[in-house]
Amino acid sequence: MDILISGAGMAGLATALDLSARGHRVTVVERASHFRVNGSPIDVRGDALGILEKMGLLDRVREQRVLTTELVQFVDDDGEPVGRPRSADIGDSPDDLEIAREDLANILVDALPPDVEILFRDSVRSLDDDGTGVDVAFASGHRQRFDIVVGADGQHSRVRGLVFGPEGDFARHLGYYVALADLPDEVRPHRMNPMYNAPGRLAGIARYKDRALAVLMFRSDPIDYDYHDLDEQRRIIVDAFAGTTGWKVPQLIEAVRVDPELYFDSSSQIHMRTWHRGRVVLVGDAAHCATSLSGRGTSLAFTGAYFLAEELDRADGDHVVAFERYETRQRPYAEFAQKSVDAGADLIIPPTWEAIAARNERLDGVAPAR
Ligand SMILES: Cc1cc2nc3c(=O)[nH]c(=O)nc-3n(C[C@H](O)[C@H](O)[C@H](O)COP(=O)(O)OP(=O)(O)OC[C@H]3O[C@@H](n4cnc5c(N)ncnc54)[C@H](O)[C@@H]3O)c2cc1C
Repeated sequence: MDILISGAGMAGLATALDLSARGHRVTVVERASHFRVNGSPIDVRGDALGILEKMGLLDRVREQRVLTTELVQFVDDDGEPVGRPRSADIGDSPDDLEIAREDLANILVDALPPDVEILFRDSVRSLDDDGTGVDVAFASGHRQRFDIVVGADGQHSRVRGLVFGPEGDFARHLGYYVALADLPDEVRPHRMNPMYNAPGRLAGIARYKDRALAVLMFRSDPIDYDYHDLDEQRRIIVDAFAGTTGWKVPQLIEAVRVDPELYFDSSSQIHMRTWHRGRVVLVGDAAHCATSLSGRGTSLAFTGAYFLAEELDRADGDHVVAFERYETRQRPYAEFAQKSVDAGADLIIPPTWEAIAARNERLDGVAPAR
C-alpha cells in the first residue's frame, strides 16, 4: 500500500519503520526542517520494550540508557536538597528504560530504510478521501494520492483537525504548562537533578550524558497562543515566572530567552471515541496524548505503531478491519496511561507554600553524595 504518515516524531518514525518492514511504500511529511530530536530523557516501559525487541532495536536502546529521574531531588531557595520523590510516586519499574529523546529518535532515524521518503518543511493542507484512496494536497502545492493516511503529528495534530474536528472537542487541559530549554552552562558531573518549587511553579535542571536542560512548569488555565510562534511562547513563560527569583530561576529563564529549539506545550490530554475515519487513522499523541506526566507517551507511540502495522497485515490490507483491531488493542494502554497522571501535579507543582511544605514532608530522604 502507499501510505502517508504526517509527523516524524516518535509515533511517525515508529509507524514508518513498522509499515516499511511489512512491505508498504511509506512517505513521511514533517513540518519542521529537520528531525526534531530535542527534549528531556523519556521512558520506554511495559509492552513497548517487547515491541522494541521485535523491531530489533532493544539492545541499541539499552546501550544508550541514562539515569535522570532517579537523580531528581527537590531543593530549597539555596539549592540545598530537601528530599527525593518516592519511587512509588513516579511509578518507575526496574525494567523501564530511560533514554535521551534525541538518542531514541536517532536510533529510529538510522533504522529507516532508504526507500522511506521524508518530506521536510511541508504538511498536509487538505485531504479528500473518496472511499478508494485519499487525495492529499500539501502546503507546498504538491499533490499525491495514497491508500491510507496516518496522522502522527502530535498533540495539536493537523490531520485530526482536518478529519475529526477542532482540538477543543478532544483536549482536556490538566492545568499546567511545560517548557524545556538547553542549558549549556550547567553541563558538568553531577549527583542530582535539582528541582525547585514556588507556588504553582517548578524550575529544575535535567542533566544527562553531556547535556543539561532547564525544565520549567507552571500552573495556568488554558492560554490561547500560536503553537508556531516561539517568541510568544517565550513571553508566556517569562511572564509566568515574573517575581520568582529563588534558587537559579533567573538563569533558567534566560535559557528560555535564547534557545532556538525551545519546547513549550500545555499538559493536555486528547480523548477521542474513535481514532479512525475512512482511510485516515491516528497514532501517538494525535490520538491519545497522555501528557509527559504519564511518562508513557513514547511507549504508547511504539505499541500503537506496531499494532497498526500488524493488523493491516493480518487483515490483508482491509483497512476497515485493521483499524478496528488496532484500536481495540491499543485503547487499554492509552486509558491506563491517561489515568496514571492524577496525583502527579500535586507532587511536582504544589499550588501553595503550605502544599510545598506538606509535599516535602512526604519525600524520601536526601540521597547520599556519590
Ligand atoms: C521537540 C519535542 C520535544 C519533546 N520533549 C518531550 C519531553 O522532554 N518529555 C516528554 O515526555 N515528551 C516530550 N515530547 C512529546 C513526546 O515526544 C510525545 O509525547 C511522544 O513521544 C509521542 O510522540 P508523537 O510522535 O505522537 O508526538 P510528537 O513527539 O509531538 O511528534 C509529532 C511530530 O509531528 C510534527 N508535526 C506537527 N504538526 C505537523 C504538521 N502539521 N505536519 C507535519 N508534521 C507535523 C512535529 O514537528 C513532530 O515532529 C516532545 C515532543 C517534541 C516534538
